Order: sequence, then C-alpha cells, then structure tokens
Amino acid sequence: MPITRILIANRGEIALRIHRAAHEMGIETVAVHSTADADAMHVRLADHAVCIGPPAAGESYLNIANIISAAELSHADAIHPGYGFLSENARFAEIVEAHEVIWIGPKPEHIRTMGDKVAAKKSAGELGLPLVPGSDGAVETIEEAKKVAAEIGYPVLVKAASGGGGRGMKVVPEEGQLESLMSQAKTEAKNAFGDDTVYIEKYLGNPRHIEFQIFGDGRGNAIHLGERDCSLQRRHQKVLEEAPSPVLSQEERMRMGGICADAMAKMGYRGAGTIEFLWENGEFYFIEMNTRLQVEHPVTEAITGVDLVREQIRIADGKDLSCSQDDIEFSGHAIECRINAEDPFTFAPSPGKISHYHAAGGMHVRVDSGLYAGYSIPPYYDSMIAKLIVYGRTRERCIMRLRRALGEMVIEGVKTSIPLHQELLEQDDVLSGDYSIKWLEDWLKTRG
Ligand code: ADP
Repeated sequence: MPITRILIANRGEIALRIHRAAHEMGIETVAVHSTADADAMHVRLADHAVCIGPPAAGESYLNIANIISAAELSHADAIHPGYGFLSENARFAEIVEAHEVIWIGPKPEHIRTMGDKVAAKKSAGELGLPLVPGSDGAVETIEEAKKVAAEIGYPVLVKAASGGGGRGMKVVPEEGQLESLMSQAKTEAKNAFGDDTVYIEKYLGNPRHIEFQIFGDGRGNAIHLGERDCSLQRRHQKVLEEAPSPVLSQEERMRMGGICADAMAKMGYRGAGTIEFLWENGEFYFIEMNTRLQVEHPVTEAITGVDLVREQIRIADGKDLSCSQDDIEFSGHAIECRINAEDPFTFAPSPGKISHYHAAGGMHVRVDSGLYAGYSIPPYYDSMIAKLIVYGRTRERCIMRLRRALGEMVIEGVKTSIPLHQELLEQDDVLSGDYSIKWLEDWLKTRG
C-alpha cells in the first residue's frame, strides 16, 4: 500500500517543508502541535491536526507515546520526523516500525551506530571514509592517552563519546596539560551525558566544515548530491551555508562524493543522510554523520533541482531513487541565511508577536518559514524563524541577489539576525569565500 497520509512529527518551517512535498505527491498530512503552537502555520496548512501536549518539548514534540497515539488516531500510515526532536532517536524509529507505521528515515540500527561517536568513527573507517588521526576507539588510561597523543602530535582534542554541542571537548596544547584536561573532559561528559568515555583526535587548527549529502535506497544503491560548505558558525551553530563549497573543484567533489556514496551503498543505508567532514589543506576528515534531513538541505536542492523530501518519501515507500548519479548535475551557486529571532549583536533570543511580515521574492529566491503577521513566536523552541535561500548562476550573482533579498525581508515586532547577514555579506573574506570554522567568532570579536 503506498503512503497516503503522513504525520509530521515536528513544527515550524520544516513541518511546512514536509507538508509541501507531501501535498505535491497527493499525500495528506497530519500536523502535531503543542498547546503553544495551536495557531502555527504548520497546523493551519495540514489536512489534520492533533494536539500532543503542553509547550515544553519534552512533553509534546519529544513525547513518543503521544505522537504514536496521534498517528493511530489520525490513521497516518507514515511518520516524517524532520530534523531535531526525535529525528535521530533510534528507539523512536523502532517504535514507529513496531506499530506498522512507515518510518520516513534510515534503518534504526544505522541511526544508533551514527549516534554513538566512537561507533560512528569505527564504522566510517571500515567503510573507507577518511578519519581524523587519533585513538582507536575509547581511551581508558592516561598512559594510553599519552601514547596516542605522542604518536599523532600536539595539539590534540579530547572528545566525549556521547558528546554533542561541543560539550566534553578539550583542546590539549602539550603533554603537560593532558592529564588535567582529560579528567576535566571526563567530568564534563559524565555530568552532561552520564557517560565519561572519551577518545582522542588530532586537533585541526583552521579547518572548513564541508558536508556531503547522500541518499541510499536501503538495498545497496546510493548516490551523492555534492557538498555544502557550512564553515560560518557561531558556537558550533551554522549561520550561513552555501553549495558548492568555494574551495572544491568538480574533480574533488566527484571523488569525495563517490567515496561517500560507496560507503553508504556498502552499508545498505536508506534515505537521506549527511556525512560531515572537516577539511584542511585539501584533506577531508570525517567528524560525524547525521542520519536525517538537514536544515541547510535547500542549497543542495537549488543547485541540483532534486526535491530531497520527495526522495525521502519515495524511498520510505519502497520505490527506487528517482535519479542515478549520472543524472545529477550541479549548476550555479546557492546560499542559505538562517534567520533567527534574536538580537543581531548580543544573540539574545527575541520571541514575541510579529506585527508586519513580508517575505522576499523574485527570481531564484526561496523563503521557508511559518511566519505570518499577527503570529506570536513562542519562547519555548529554537529561535530559527525563517530560511532565505537564494540561487545564482555564479557565486557573485548569488551574493548580489541575496543582498537584494535580505533588503526586502520585513519581519517586525521582534529582533532578527537579518542585519548580521547583511553585515556578513559586506566582509571581504565572505565575498572571496576565504573562511574557516574559526572565522565568524574571530570576526565577531573585532566587530564594533
Ligand atoms: P558535537 O557533536 O559535540 O557537536 P563534533 O564532533 O560534531 O561534536 O564537533 C563539533 C565541532 O568541534 C566541529 O564542528 C568542529 O568545529 C570542532 N571539532 C571537532 N573535531 C575537531 C578536530 N579534530 N579538530 C578541530 N576542531 C574539531
């Protein structure tokens, strides 16, 4: 039986994004929402809506029992988790499948492996992906740590196996500080994740973040859709993403993309995934794999013309990928600006009521957002309220158009990061594409 009704276990722009792909395929949608989101656009547009709990995400968007009940009540035959929330929760995926509802996502065992950093790195190495030099799995003792660090050379990075959001991570400049920093990392990891397992990696001084979009059909076929450069980050949060990366040649793209696709084929990976690398001096180093759709997926859609959510739904429905590697053509350049409801200088969140709203438009301009005039941005969730994605035949034209589009966006009533993006697009290093993952934070320190 083909999928006829998808429950979207998410909110905001990504819930809308999934709704749109589903409707274009003739599939009905079920929105779920907390009491704080009763008036949200994703609820208004969906064919059916079910309230799943109070505002706190733990009691609504992360409430597995309520979401499963909503699926049963609304007769949904599939669940799409979006990104964040339950999207990388292997247990949720298993529970969905145990209820004979189609899980629009990877196989639970792959979600689990990639969610554990040590297991993910081991698996990536076995699949032929290049790794950051470091310990072979967890490091138990200080003697072992010293040995590994001496082999790879200082500085090294001690990382928590259960890490996330940069917690439990320590840069160790020289051997004299290894013991104390390793014990600090372990304590931090224990407190944050209840697991003090750590491992060691070579610390890369000035890398870029380059990630490859891949797709597998779960039956041993996989393709890649090129890379995205997400080096412009603040506190490990991506701010602006672009495709293609300003530093890769078509030859390097196809070589590295091919390695990623081969790895996914070998694994029997199903659905969309992103393999993240640090890139320095022409070398790639695997850092993690995200077993879900990414926030920044539209830049890939813009330069390939492939609807990634449609592909996800097709694959979950047991169909083949709609395109082969040879069908994928990369053309032009796309940039996404994440627009947050926050102060563009202090980054303090700025929830509240939108008094006026007007989305930018025109050729090659896409705005993914659930905003409307009169909408109140609730304070309980992520501060990202819109994504502006702009395409141009060249990077230069893309930037010109992006500046024009940012100038057209009207979001009044709350503070937004639009002025930050406008300022960024005046910086020489951004214009020339000459930046690493350190650039944005360094620049913020010098900003008047
Ligand atoms: P987390 O899950 O905590 O976010 P990641 O492994 O994804 O951990 O790393 C988070 C960030 O830390 C990366 O995006 C990068 O900025 C930095 N980082 C991770 N590993 C290294 C490394 N070996 N050298 C330098 N920076 C690193």
